[in-house]
Amino acid sequence: PPITKLKPEPTPLPACIHQTVYVPVHRTTEVQDARLRLPILAEEQQVMETINENPIVIVAGETGSGKTTQLPQFLYEAGYAQHKMIGVTEPRRVAAIAMSKRVAHEMNLPESEVSYLIRFEGNVTPATRIKFMTDGVLLKEIETDFLLSKYSVIILDEAHERSVYTDILVGLLSRIVPLRHKRGQPLKLIIMSATLRVSDFTENTRLFKIPPPLLKVEARQFPVTIHFQKLTPDDYVAEAYRKTLKIHNKLPEGGILIFVTGQQEVNQLVRKLRRTFPYQPPSKDAAKNGKESEEEKEETKDDAESKDDADSTVEDPKELEFDMKRVIRNIRKSKKKFLAQIALPKINLDDYKLPGDDTEADMHEQPDDDEDQEGLEEENDDELGLEGESGMESGQRQPLWVLPLYSLLSSEKQNRIFQPVPDGCRLCVVSTNVAETSLTIPHIKYVVDCGRQKTRLYDKLTGVSAFVVTYTSKASADQRAGRAGRISAGHCYRLYSSAVYNDCFEDFSQPDIQKKPVEDLMLQMRCMGIDRVVHFPFPSPPDQVQLQAAERRLIVLGALEATKTEKTDLPPAVTRLGQVISRFPVAPRFGKMLALSHQQDLLPYTVCLVGALSVQEVLIETGVQRDEDVAPGANRFHRKRQSWAASGNFQLLGDPMVLLRAVGAAEYAGSQGRLSEFCATNGLRLKAMSEVRKLRVQLTNEINLNVSDIELGVDPELKPPTDAQARFLRQILLAGMGDRVARKVPLADIADKEERRRLKYAYHCADMEEPAFLHVSSVLRQKTPEWVIYQEAYELQNGDSTKMFIRGITAIEPEWLLLYVPLLCNIREVREDPAPRFDKTSGKIYCHVDATFGKSGWELPLGEV
Ligand code: ADP
Ligand code: MG
Repeated sequence: PPITKLKPEPTPLPACIHQTVYVPVHRTTEVQDARLRLPILAEEQQVMETINENPIVIVAGETGSGKTTQLPQFLYEAGYAQHKMIGVTEPRRVAAIAMSKRVAHEMNLPESEVSYLIRFEGNVTPATRIKFMTDGVLLKEIETDFLLSKYSVIILDEAHERSVYTDILVGLLSRIVPLRHKRGQPLKLIIMSATLRVSDFTENTRLFKIPPPLLKVEARQFPVTIHFQKLTPDDYVAEAYRKTLKIHNKLPEGGILIFVTGQQEVNQLVRKLRRTFPYQPPSKDAAKNGKESEEEKEETKDDAESKDDADSTVEDPKELEFDMKRVIRNIRKSKKKFLAQIALPKINLDDYKLPGDDTEADMHEQPDDDEDQEGLEEENDDELGLEGESGMESGQRQPLWVLPLYSLLSSEKQNRIFQPVPDGCRLCVVSTNVAETSLTIPHIKYVVDCGRQKTRLYDKLTGVSAFVVTYTSKASADQRAGRAGRISAGHCYRLYSSAVYNDCFEDFSQPDIQKKPVEDLMLQMRCMGIDRVVHFPFPSPPDQVQLQAAERRLIVLGALEATKTEKTDLPPAVTRLGQVISRFPVAPRFGKMLALSHQQDLLPYTVCLVGALSVQEVLIETGVQRDEDVAPGANRFHRKRQSWAASGNFQLLGDPMVLLRAVGAAEYAGSQGRLSEFCATNGLRLKAMSEVRKLRVQLTNEINLNVSDIELGVDPELKPPTDAQARFLRQILLAGMGDRVARKVPLADIADKEERRRLKYAYHCADMEEPAFLHVSSVLRQKTPEWVIYQEAYELQNGDSTKMFIRGITAIEPEWLLLYVPLLCNIREVREDPAPRFDKTSGKIYCHVDATFGKSGWELPLGEV
């Protein structure tokens, strides 16, 4: 598909005036009243005049001022959706879904007209007029329709979040808009952001030669009093709990919003608060089995069972039912040919009957016993900075309506933040930074801000990642505080000192594109015909080192040519394999695995594996602290998983085999209507299972579409792989993960007994100095094979020292390295003996070679190339 060359310099655009055609919308009076309270409504005329007269406009406004929900409606009413669609991108899937539903509701239009599309699902139809989508989805669309000819307007929402895809979209659209103008089919671009650093967009002349007009939506914001702590406690979750108790016990009414860093902390705090302030529904409701109380019970039960980070809330298994029509509609180039072929393989239970699966013996767990009353003791009021204002009897136990909010939460549960709070209760939302700008929670008066966020840091060269909790930026802290001033004057309690704020907080956080590995983006851009990614007009260009590392990884994968084009100084060309890889909506290494699976009937298994590996946390973590100690109660899942990868090549396939089993067996359980039960007893995350399924369907379709001689999924049964297939799967995993090879530290050479014990699970990773340890959850921990590949390496802070872990382990044979990752092998000598072999089918001559692997020069057994 690559296409039109991008112009190096943007030319100034002619003013392009949109002729407004008024399209009526019939809203309910309730909706209309709510809209009229939004600041942006007062500015509608000015906003629309600017948009009508300018091709590119930046709209910045306080969170909650109505940008996301109202602007698409303004555009619709002005006739922008008459012939083409209005597209809105969101960096977060949560927001894409929630906003499309809200706008459909406000406009009184069906979801077939105001729709959403995210990676795994959507409700887009041919009748869709306003389409909310994730930024990644739009980027994929550009690959096949560079001029975005289906759209009249593109709104890039939440541009201040600086997600990788939004940044690239800004760069691409800065060139697409002029091209559309040239063709007489103007496209409007609206970049929308909270009132944060917009200068990267407005003052970047490589991006826009003439800076686009900046519209500021002034929101009515009440003053927020900021309270710093004298000290900065390490245990901010406990501190947040204490602070919330105090606010609730002593301060006048108004919702409380607490910011912590991750799902686990959210759940932990929600549980503690609910225990301290139980909500009992009025007896009338209780009699008819009050829905809320049921749900509460359910949540507590789940939490007690898993006690960890995973989102194990039980959902309606119907949600998992496969709606083929809907999926098919969502595939971008539907062709009649493949529609008939798509069928997900069915599973036969007997094949998946797991050894020792019927043991219920170790089912029970110690109850969670950390009931504590800390923080309930009296403390002086001035800590709240509010002596005069205190309107409540201290110690009063008004019920607290505690709701969690994080991105992996199901959308129904997320939606509860917008629903009315039960009578007599105070709203308390415990959230990750989702509530910072993407979702505005009504009625918040108090904000408790722990001042931290969880970030995934990547090593620029190796791609090794580490989850670290860092301080947020000053900009984020101010955003969080601002959430308290939406209804009246509010208060923000920062769980850190002003000295820490001044000295340790950056002004703004770094854009994602400067933090993450960029190989999928690089490949995608190269396949779009952008040869010099280095010269691309990024709002903030990624680090050169990062781009080079990405290029290197793509070369090792075989997606880019290994040899540079000589005549020109162009970067290495995209290979055919690279083009195939980029068609799959997964990371390039997974794309390669799919591309290679086109033999031995492996595709259904690879699809299944790639699906499971691309979804976060399919298996509920057995080691809560991701460290070496197994959490109490985690053993039973762990033992089960151990038995899933029983013997032979199954066992050597290791952790991916566990995933394969889990998906297969869950699929069967689902067909029997026992999915949630199955997930609960086997430590699988229900929501993840539904995502794996969606991804499998999507990938299956993609393959049927792109690979003409394969008809995948006609076979109604997917048996577990044979032993031989399991062996091929190990090779395929190696082909995708060739840069993640590790070798066991040879214990025999170590004299010291203590040291031998310490290094029992230690591996040397190619390219890394420090040894890494086999994660406790790995089913290969007992076997510790000499050569392995891993899905992920990451570092954990442990007091002052750090320790490296590898997880998602598969055993490999060293002689495969020459075949699958030749570029990382160093061939020393070609042998005459045994004699070279001529292969008739390929016409190639194979000889034996002496070689080593990687920079560390690991000796390889005699191999054939
Ligand atoms: P912005 O994009 O400027 O941050 P939004 O358009 O997202 O603002 O939000 C405008 C208002 O709509 C907010 O007050 C928010 O609480 C409200 N809102 C958004 N979604 C819903 C919903 N599902 N139910 C009720 N109110 C909502
Ligand atoms: Mg918004």
